[in-house]
Amino acid sequence: MNKIHKILIANRGEIALRILRACKELGIKTVAVYSTVDKDLKHVRLADEAVCIGAPASKNSYLNIPALISAAEVTHADAIHPGYGFLSENANFAQRVEESGFVFIGPRAENIRTMGDKVVAIKVMKKSGVPCVPGSDGALSNNDQTNITLANKIGFPIIIKAGGGGGGRGMRVVEKQADLLDAIELTKTEAKSFFGNAQVYMEKFLTTPRHIEVQILADEHNRTLHLGERDCSMQRRHQKMVEEAPAPGITPKLRNKIGRVCAQACKAINYRGVGTFEFLFEDGKFYFIEMNTRIQVEHPVTEMVTGIDIVREQILISDGQDLSFTQDEVGIKGHAIECRINAEDPDNFMPSPGKITQYHAAGGLGVRVDSHIYNGYTVPAHYDSMIGKIITFANTRIGAIIKMQNALDEMVIDGIKTNIPLQRKIMNDKIFQTGGVNIHYLEKMLN
Ligand code: ADP
Repeated sequence: MNKIHKILIANRGEIALRILRACKELGIKTVAVYSTVDKDLKHVRLADEAVCIGAPASKNSYLNIPALISAAEVTHADAIHPGYGFLSENANFAQRVEESGFVFIGPRAENIRTMGDKVVAIKVMKKSGVPCVPGSDGALSNNDQTNITLANKIGFPIIIKAGGGGGGRGMRVVEKQADLLDAIELTKTEAKSFFGNAQVYMEKFLTTPRHIEVQILADEHNRTLHLGERDCSMQRRHQKMVEEAPAPGITPKLRNKIGRVCAQACKAINYRGVGTFEFLFEDGKFYFIEMNTRIQVEHPVTEMVTGIDIVREQILISDGQDLSFTQDEVGIKGHAIECRINAEDPDNFMPSPGKITQYHAAGGLGVRVDSHIYNGYTVPAHYDSMIGKIITFANTRIGAIIKMQNALDEMVIDGIKTNIPLQRKIMNDKIFQTGGVNIHYLEKMLN
């Protein structure tokens, strides 16, 4: 390693453990940080050093920038890995980390800032040749007549979206002209109070799209490549539940075409690190919706079909090392599926924190369980309800589904409720099994 010998992991749960494992394989020392309720997390026990950074509420611990930076200082870490969620897409955090003399394991702050503002992101992507949803080409003005003309030109239904939005919030679908002006005003007001940015923009509302995203890697020296796509259409309330790679029906030709466009766009903006281009896919066409500038929950499905350890590559890139393979050396083999396991009631989706009294993980050829839970572990109520992921890998899609059915049957998590019964239902669903359903299918299936 050139500059990274000790990494502070600014996260918790399964992703903190995932990062710790990658560090160990690379011979890098680890510092875990934890809130008072998280002292028994698995990665905290396995890390070389551990620092308590505050009270359970995220704002007092995992979102507390001064506490994280001082933890890095007292432990003499060289770098900070933000994981996903929390501060991972906070440009000010990335900047503070680098200004304090540490390596931020992620893109440059300016790239995070650009992609965090969707109005700017879409402009930049369009300029770089990435196909976008037909829309307003920028923030909406205050001129009612201009907005009405624009909406009619795009054609109803349209969707009004907040430039600073995220997490599925700050969006409103408009079916007809009579509702347009009220919808714009309402979304602006919400955007201002949720995100502190009143800018909104307009897009054509696609009625039956799939969610397909492209994984990219970019090194310090502007070499960029893509690792193919993932299908994340199985969503409830814009939250992904099941992901897979490759996406059913995407031909190698289409994959290479969209992948190269994304890799080229990364070059154009001088991007560094790992990243994901999210697209809606309808009638054979890709429409960019946003870019995530961090490692994603669903990265393992891509790892399984490419054989590339994405977290390892992410760390090596931040260490200033060149990508050690070319686009031509990236191959997609077999099929991988991921089921997110949440501590929640499978009937009403209410969180179900508490103590795990019995835990037996699934196993066998082609079964991967990324989870921090263990017998006697207590799931705290303060954070996201995801407690792990099962990933299965086989030569064919149906092979991966059958392995997932078995893995879900083998999994024992007693003491709390989980969504395993629901995931079982999805894996047994005949239409899901045919592949290529759109983003509304899961909610329809549940009703
Ligand atoms: P967020 O950052 O809040 O996740 P996105 O722009 O990624 O916002 O959109 C989230 C989800 O909203 C998409 O996955 C899709 O389900 C829906 N959506 C967003 N834009 C459109 C659109 N133009 N047409 C249809 N659905 C859309």
